[in-house]
Amino acid sequence: MSTPIKSRPGKRPAASVEELFHARTEPVDGGHLRWTGYANKRGLALVRYAGSLHTALRIAFRIQHGREPVGHCSTDCGLPGCVAPAHVEDDATRTRNRAAYASLIGLDSPAEACRRGHAAAEHRRYRRDGRPYCLACNATAAETSA
Ligand SMILES: [Zn+2]
Ligand SMILES: [Zn+2]
Repeated sequence: MSTPIKSRPGKRPAASVEELFHARTEPVDGGHLRWTGYANKRGLALVRYAGSLHTALRIAFRIQHGREPVGHCSTDCGLPGCVAPAHVEDDATRTRNRAAYASLIGLDSPAEACRRGHAAAEHRRYRRDGRPYCLACNATAAETSA
């Protein structure tokens, strides 16, 4: 966030943040998209548009789904730093994809609530390997240990 991005006066201003996104990516084998633009110290791909910074992953998500992402955006496609719109997941699509995977490998649970009574429909999430967990219990555990 601290590194200023210099504006280039000679250039035509971009029509949209999506246009800037596309100008800063290059395709990689396997349908991935590599980010060639600015990234902050933590490796987060960013676009400056209309005076504010936009996360490349959130732009990619909007391109693919036509709506604002819910919660955290990430890719889980095996290429670190990939920003391919089809590979970006938000909390909702990540949960859906992992639930489908859990069911595929037989790890989905028929329980309608966790042991402490949180409704599964609202609070059940899945780890990358398909193991289910309760988000509400997880949040409580994080608060306690913080
Ligand atoms: Zn990818
Ligand atoms: Zn719970």
